[in-house]
Amino acid sequence: MKSDRDRPVAIIGGGASGTILAAHLAMRGVRSVLVEGGGRTARGVAYSTTEPAHLLNVRAEGMSAWAGEPDHFARRFEAEGGDARGFAERRLFGQYLGEMLGEARAGGNVQVIEATAIDARREGEAWAIRLDSGDMLEADHLVLAIGNQEPELLSSFAGAGARFIGNPWGAEAQAAVRELAAGGGNALLIGTGLTMVDLVLSLDAAGHNGKIVALSRRGQVPRAHADFDPSAVELDELPGGSLRGMWRWLRRRSAEIGWRAAVDSLRPHSHALWQSLDLDQQQRFLRHARPWWDVHRHRIAPQVAEVIARRVAEGRLQILAARITGSRATSDRIEVEIRRRGGASPETMTFDYAFNCTGPLHSISRTRDPLLRSLLDAGTIRPDQLGIGIEVDEHSRAVGGSDVWAIGPLTKGRYWEIIAVPDIREQAAAIAEDIARELSE
Ligand SMILES: Cc1cc2nc3c(=O)[nH]c(=O)nc-3n(C[C@H](O)[C@H](O)[C@H](O)COP(=O)(O)OP(=O)(O)OC[C@H]3O[C@@H](n4cnc5c(N)ncnc54)[C@H](O)[C@@H]3O)c2cc1C
Repeated sequence: MKSDRDRPVAIIGGGASGTILAAHLAMRGVRSVLVEGGGRTARGVAYSTTEPAHLLNVRAEGMSAWAGEPDHFARRFEAEGGDARGFAERRLFGQYLGEMLGEARAGGNVQVIEATAIDARREGEAWAIRLDSGDMLEADHLVLAIGNQEPELLSSFAGAGARFIGNPWGAEAQAAVRELAAGGGNALLIGTGLTMVDLVLSLDAAGHNGKIVALSRRGQVPRAHADFDPSAVELDELPGGSLRGMWRWLRRRSAEIGWRAAVDSLRPHSHALWQSLDLDQQQRFLRHARPWWDVHRHRIAPQVAEVIARRVAEGRLQILAARITGSRATSDRIEVEIRRRGGASPETMTFDYAFNCTGPLHSISRTRDPLLRSLLDAGTIRPDQLGIGIEVDEHSRAVGGSDVWAIGPLTKGRYWEIIAVPDIREQAAAIAEDIARELSE
């Protein structure tokens, strides 16, 4: 037998991906240790919010952790008085994951360790994983479930001081939201995607009545969900292998059946379509098509879109297509130089706080995660061709590594659409199956 069954599978990262995988392994009778270093076990970044205004951006009926039991989460939501077609609070989904993990722990197949993994190396047949608590963990199989990387450091804010909030998910951001709400100050949000939406909701819920400016190069904002008649399409009806061809197809189909139906009809085929593009075309997608794709594909709940629209109509949220050319801290505020798209000269605006809402770091080689850094430096794992995640094979096994898997956002390079729960649960099931098969050999 290749593996020692006494050694558990080590899952590093206890967010949605790690938790769902632990439950899938437990269901197959495989023991795992879930290592979570951010104090967010079973919640991760997305579901640890305590803000009721933060809603899921997928209908409850799509959020089951088990592909074979599609209404698993919807039933939980309905028990709280929700509607399967509705959008639950994200914190409820966190509770759901917590309950799932609780069941797996009660069954004796999952152990949780609250610590950060800072290094992992192969010692003979086993992985020796060093934790920041000073403890060592031994495992035969290592799964990286560490989620998205923290946002990129923005060079134009290098001298901006403490009023520039680099991590919109941290305690500093929460304190800044409270201060802005109490004093009615003005906020700059750099980025106009889902993170910007979260910040606007937090400010709104806290009673903030100051002004918010949100900007990005194109000023594109996530669109709202709405009902539509689904219209399935077969993979062989699609022009795979050609970004231009797919784009034309999408435009034609959108005109015929509406863009929501057209975009969503690609979902079952997204991995195959992505993999049909060569490197150059994938790069072109990231450069040119991605802003459009993101806001149409990753839509927000209608009630969330209403908050955004209301603030815009009231003149309390301004969304700009612009870029930042510089910033400087004054005695009590932050001055930012902004150049609007197509605008002749830059203008200076003053804010009480600026928040980095640009989303996760996209260049994996600049990661600040110590474990990832150690594995990359040792050549145990390597960046994918696009440099946005790590290279994995069709089983989500790290290429070049020995018994290392990755799940969720780290595998974006191979799958692209692999950050939402409906995709992650399929990947978790496949990895659990792969590990269980190897253990039985
Ligand atoms: C704000 C937000 C809202 C979203 N809303 C939805 C939604 O409504 N529906 C949907 O389907 N998808 C949604 N998503 C996308 C998706 O569900 C998440 O991206 C998904 O939860 C990814 O989970 P994860 O566990 O891979 O990553 P994360 O949630 O980032 O969890 C990774 C965990 O790993 C830990 N960690 C990292 N490094 C180490 C280390 N070295 N040692 C130990 N622990 C470590 C971190 O502390 C973290 O808790 C949302 C994402 C975000 C960011």
